[in-house]
Amino acid sequence: MSRPLAHLLRELIRLHGPLDVARFMALCAAHRDGYYERAETIGAAGDFVTAPEISQVFGELVGLALAAHWRALGCPRPVRLVDYGPGRGTLLVDLWRAAGTVPGFREAVVEVVTVERSRRLAALQRERLATLPLRPVRDPEEVPDDLPLFAVANEFFDALPVRQFVVTEAGVRERLVTFDETRGRFVFTLGRAVPREALRLPAAVREGVVEVSPAREAVAAGLAARLAAGGGLALVIDYGEKGGDFGDSLQAVSRHRRVDPLATPGEADISSLVDFAALARAAEEAGARAFGPLPQGAWLLRLGVRARLARLVAAAPGRRAELEAGVARLVDPAAMGERFKVLALGAPGDPPPPGFGGDERWSSG
Ligand code: SAH
Repeated sequence: MSRPLAHLLRELIRLHGPLDVARFMALCAAHRDGYYERAETIGAAGDFVTAPEISQVFGELVGLALAAHWRALGCPRPVRLVDYGPGRGTLLVDLWRAAGTVPGFREAVVEVVTVERSRRLAALQRERLATLPLRPVRDPEEVPDDLPLFAVANEFFDALPVRQFVVTEAGVRERLVTFDETRGRFVFTLGRAVPREALRLPAAVREGVVEVSPAREAVAAGLAARLAAGGGLALVIDYGEKGGDFGDSLQAVSRHRRVDPLATPGEADISSLVDFAALARAAEEAGARAFGPLPQGAWLLRLGVRARLARLVAAAPGRRAELEAGVARLVDPAAMGERFKVLALGAPGDPPPPGFGGDERWSSG
């Protein structure tokens, strides 16, 4: 158990009572002694691998999609580029290089805003992205709203906290985390009953655990309000479901293995499935237009991932196997191709972004 964080959580519980799951998750992820301040988190040597760390093609196609849409919107300038949760900065490196092939785009970008809570990762980003016009901020609310935004959030929303509720015939109670002194471990418990009407629970849920994320919806709404006011495009890529009724999806990963989310707070990457319908609804209520979500594999294929791969292989035949394996992992439905999805947010009246036909407007049905 990460002694400092586990100790702090026990103290908090002892003084104030059980924590809701969102508070527990937020402390595990973003506290000074929490997960993202730890030494190696993302990458082959760390706990989990993300798409940009698997293949350079991912960041390149995100960059080309953003730059192509910038052209479709009439090449506005100046604009801001935003990366929510840049991690090791790899996505931005690849995105920036590829976007450089679209004339005028990089010159139009006055600032690259990086939204990063972790001091350790922010330092790594400064180092790896030293040639970009960086503006580091710690919170999504600090992203300026006076210029068009071209934004990406890859595996950012899954790290933002969720609350959990247990629904029974007798009513709804919040799921909380407490410390069991006799067993010497953190366990789930139930809070007081909450009136169902006070919560935006998926209507169909009659029984079991439901997750809601006011934190994620607030970030989506903030981003949407900026897009509605200033224009641009945001690509939200994450593992998740189109509808929200998937039960308890809280998970923790350490050294590429699933572990009990309560067992080692701050030592494992804690996250949960993204409810894309909830994000799209929050974004549309805040004035944006939502497209998708599309499965990541289908989206990458539509953006021409095969042609991009063929060019890379032609330029470096010795790396063929590695390049092909990387792309296969991103696209293959049995790997990341279906589980990961892409939601696009734009201003009302904008044309569909690259890869999204006009027919993929989000709908609750
Ligand atoms: N986009 C990167 C990293 C994903 S990991 C990639 O694809 O590889 C999640 C990232 O979000 C990390 O950089 C983490 O530090 C950051 N993050 C998590 N919660 C955050 C929060 N509440 N505020 C700001 N950044 C956060």
